[in-house]
Amino acid sequence: MLLDKNEKGIISGVIRRSTWVNAEILIAPNRGSDTKPNDFTTNDFGKSIKKSFREQVIELMQRGQVPEICQEKIRQIILEDEAEKLKKCPFCPGNEVVTPKPTLVVVKNNQLIVKPAEEINDWQCRAVPNAFPALRTEGISKFLVDQYKAETIILNAHGAHEVIVETPDHYATLADYSLQQIVNWLSVVIERTEDLYCDPKIRFVSVFKNYGPDAAASLAHPHTQIIGLPCIPEKIDDRMGRLYKYESNNAYSLAKITIERSSDEARVIAQNSNFISFVPYEQKFPFESWIMPKRLENRFYRSQNNLFELAEVISENFRRLKAVFGVLPNFNFYLDECPDKRYADNSSQFVSWRWRIAPRINKIGGFELQTGMYICTIHPDDAARILREVKI
Ligand SMILES: [Zn+2]
Repeated sequence: MLLDKNEKGIISGVIRRSTWVNAEILIAPNRGSDTKPNDFTTNDFGKSIKKSFREQVIELMQRGQVPEICQEKIRQIILEDEAEKLKKCPFCPGNEVVTPKPTLVVVKNNQLIVKPAEEINDWQCRAVPNAFPALRTEGISKFLVDQYKAETIILNAHGAHEVIVETPDHYATLADYSLQQIVNWLSVVIERTEDLYCDPKIRFVSVFKNYGPDAAASLAHPHTQIIGLPCIPEKIDDRMGRLYKYESNNAYSLAKITIERSSDEARVIAQNSNFISFVPYEQKFPFESWIMPKRLENRFYRSQNNLFELAEVISENFRRLKAVFGVLPNFNFYLDECPDKRYADNSSQFVSWRWRIAPRINKIGGFELQTGMYICTIHPDDAARILREVKI
């Protein structure tokens, strides 16, 4: 802990600026104190986050705290309620006709089948076009400047929006997946991302997973979304420019420094010979982690020969996160990598891909919206220590 305490033992915050993420983070553990008044909180660190009603009932039954006479009735209600939910779930096995035809299916022997001619019911993982897409491949991107010459507008944006249904199991989480299941899912991510990048009109592909309502997920069944855009988002373009400039000025990669610094310091969560997961120096969200290759690769597909090793680190990271809170907290999980060929073909390794896990334990408030500066209520070193030391 590097923060100063005053005579009352109150810790003052520190502000960290990051060139990589172009963000300012105010680390203020005092804000996360148990003694700070709060009428609404249900998720103080170190305690279990709020469990669903179903999870609470099951736990009470397991502990024998539900009278025997009620147990059978409760079991029946839960079973009927769940059966009804699964019947309606568009991603559950048996409901394949509800989604558009798949672009890719992983079958039982872990083989990938591209655009299967017939519907395959016995699948491990499947990618389908989103039934409610934000963008369509039929669009024609047309750049216009508005009448006040203030903004550039892209009309009828050409793009793609797909969903990867990660597993047939409605209730599985990344903390429960087998390594093979994670490898299957990552293989589909690579195949679909690279296929979308073959479309010359797509300049940037976003891969992200929202888990739980606080992370903006609308469906519970485990899934990942992929959006192909006709432009590189300004935030991403700006980051690439900064990283490139840093390397030009210093003859060294900032991505490399990030990995070296994370390996040296006390922020490591899990690692093996090729991959590392750690709490970043610029932790925006409490218990945030980044997963990166130890040898820089600017595009994710270039690590495809080592997916089992990567799956080990991803699995351990999520099992640790679940163990700290009792249940897996809501989170966003997304892939950052070099956008289109303009950057990726550059032989310079000034950037690296990273998977970022952002637990949504704290809500974003007015301060964050106004300033773009995030208040993080736990020190990165402490978050890493808790994750590293928890029993799994
Ligand atoms: Zn389902």
